[in-house]
Amino acid sequence: MTAPLVPDAQLRGAGLSSTAQRRAVLALLVGRARPLTAQQVHVELNRSGRHIGLTTVYRALHSLTDAGLLHTFDIDGQRAYRHCGTTPHQHLICTRCETVTECPPEIVTNWLSELHQHTGFTPHPDRLDLRGVCATCTGP
Ligand SMILES: [Zn+2]
Ligand SMILES: [Zn+2]
Repeated sequence: MTAPLVPDAQLRGAGLSSTAQRRAVLALLVGRARPLTAQQVHVELNRSGRHIGLTTVYRALHSLTDAGLLHTFDIDGQRAYRHCGTTPHQHLICTRCETVTECPPEIVTNWLSELHQHTGFTPHPDRLDLRGVCATCTGP
């Protein structure tokens, strides 16, 4: 299943009105493996000639996150935003390059049921962030 990559369609699909600011913010984040902070989004938009205020960037990021189009991450104590796929996934976060990989939940299902058997703890599998080192950073 591939999500539509046209920001306009994604916004409407998520029940948001398609404003120029939201389209610009979403278009900047689509296809990026690393989450960006509001400041970084703001700087990059202005660099590309779109002069959108920081407050507006924050507002756009919040509504996109509320609508489920973006997932948030804590990178060095700062909130960062990433455009994620619509299918359920876990996050594998590289602590060296900050790349986030989406991992299909099936891979961790066995581990989670084993965890449950040993501890009686029932985890919510919808959002599980694992920190570690990605294949690229581990390589020679
Ligand atoms: Zn995600
Ligand atoms: Zn890495």
